[in-house]
Amino acid sequence: MSLRNEQIQKLESEAFEVLIIGGGINGSVAAAALSSRGVKTALIDRKDFGSETSQSSSNLIWGGIKYLEGLEFKLVRELCRSRNQLIRAYPSSIREIRFFTNLDKGFRFPALFIYLGSLIYWFIGNCFTRPPKLLSKKSINHLEPVVNTEKSIGGIEYSDAYLVEHDTRFVFQFIRRSLKAGCAAANYIESLGSEQQEDKTWLTRVRDTQAGKEWKIRSKIVINACGPFVDFQNSLSRQKGKHRHVFSKGIHLVVPRLTEIERVLTFFADDGRLFFAIPMGNRTVIGTTDNRVTEPETEVTDEDRRFVLENINKRVNLKQPLEEKDILSERWGVRPLVLETDQVDLNSDWTKLSRKHAIDTDPESMHISIYGGKLTDCLNIGEELCQEVSKMGVTIPHPEGSWFGEPEAKRRQEFLNQASEFELDSPFHQSPNETKAECLWRRYGEEAFELLEMIRQDSSLSEPLFPEAENLLCEIHLIAKKEMIVSLADLLRRRTRLALLFHHDFLKNSKNLKEAASIIFGKQTENQWSEYF
Ligand SMILES: Cc1cc2nc3c(=O)[nH]c(=O)nc-3n(C[C@H](O)[C@H](O)[C@H](O)COP(=O)(O)OP(=O)(O)OC[C@H]3O[C@@H](n4cnc5c(N)ncnc54)[C@H](O)[C@@H]3O)c2cc1C
Repeated sequence: MSLRNEQIQKLESEAFEVLIIGGGINGSVAAAALSSRGVKTALIDRKDFGSETSQSSSNLIWGGIKYLEGLEFKLVRELCRSRNQLIRAYPSSIREIRFFTNLDKGFRFPALFIYLGSLIYWFIGNCFTRPPKLLSKKSINHLEPVVNTEKSIGGIEYSDAYLVEHDTRFVFQFIRRSLKAGCAAANYIESLGSEQQEDKTWLTRVRDTQAGKEWKIRSKIVINACGPFVDFQNSLSRQKGKHRHVFSKGIHLVVPRLTEIERVLTFFADDGRLFFAIPMGNRTVIGTTDNRVTEPETEVTDEDRRFVLENINKRVNLKQPLEEKDILSERWGVRPLVLETDQVDLNSDWTKLSRKHAIDTDPESMHISIYGGKLTDCLNIGEELCQEVSKMGVTIPHPEGSWFGEPEAKRRQEFLNQASEFELDSPFHQSPNETKAECLWRRYGEEAFELLEMIRQDSSLSEPLFPEAENLLCEIHLIAKKEMIVSLADLLRRRTRLALLFHHDFLKNSKNLKEAASIIFGKQTENQWSEYF
């Protein structure tokens, strides 16, 4: 039986202390924290895990230097502490990176002022990273010739961190951890609303969107972690909280790599907002935008593309300006921003809304809703949700139990030693700075040992899916077994990042990729292929 069907069977036949609705970063950390600490937990998502906001981020793990302008010192302090904790806990997935910032004439602050701000930021972050530096126009030209310094007044360099792989892979490792700890978790299971019984337990009506089957899941507590859909889900369950969401759309364009050095290029766009060129393998992710929208479902418009291309072309020196034909892939989503229910909607100045998360707990009805949040904030959210569940009277058997982080460094070394038998010490085409073995460890942790076992049995499984790919055939076998793939998009966009790194048409024409996909989809490959492409 497939892993997903096993999980569905558990969801059908068992009762739970906590049911979490929504498997983005917030729902996934809640599931990992509660199940690792011994609470009987279930997690469902109506699509794939991480397939809404959590797949549209800038992949940054950062303290939010820009929030200093709004004097949000407490928020910046909390985010910096989370960033530091994440860098320590995930040494191969989350790394410090330099942000190289150029400032143009006419900018609202002088370079020295921005530098002082970056020093304050560094102190607020406990001086955990390398210190910031003030840059002259001359040194920017010398260090990063791609930056257009025609109007430069100098700049700064400071540190934050980024997800080396990508956001949804990060989300999935919390799902993996939850499953290991006994959580019943399945994707493509939609909540149609929860109803509280006289004995106070919740019955949540759910639907398997693949098989069409409906049933009810019983739990003592419901956690609504539906991201931008939290308000809608609450309306289905007749819950009224103290908060609500408004939405800001953000998009990114992925293009061939703009600069050799692994650093984030930072600019201020025409609208005065921070604007980044962020490395992803040997590509660059450019963005983002910040536009008020009224609905959570969104897409990239021509205007969005034009804004990003025009802004980057003004700020870098390329042989040829970037055009639409250079775009390899696009990312888009809405930031769910938190307002108090009766707070007046700040239409004019809404970009100044705090980006802090909020948790609404109703101990009477045993219902929790989580609003806002950031990937960077995820460990705080996991801890806070454990506390809220405990306050509602559910016993947490192992309150100090560890629920996040990579395996110990010595296990990694053991893996790298074993991997050296198999010529995995060269880099993938897409990640020139690391060996294949290091990439495999980052993606699969302890499960990477299974990959070596597969290669031992069949050496052809150490081949890449296609010559330029950054995934090996053995990965596809592991993903098929352990990562609940339902659609081709789950594989190409979330468990791997192939759909981000390569143009749609390139993937469509890859016979090797199709063969690899058939390992997962068997007779369904043709259907999956035509549906996706
Ligand atoms: C453009 C952009 C850039 C960003 N950059 C960063 C960054 O660099 N760093 C950072 O820390 N943060 C960043 N963020 C913020 C961060 O991505 C989000 O705060 C975070 O991903 C929200 O996670 P979530 O779990 O609340 O929501 P989501 O990821 O949206 O998850 C909610 C889940 O609920 C599911 N769901 C909805 N309805 C139902 C239902 N009825 N039944 C079952 N499931 C349901 C959805 O399918 C979805 O998977 C960025 C956000 C955007 C939009």
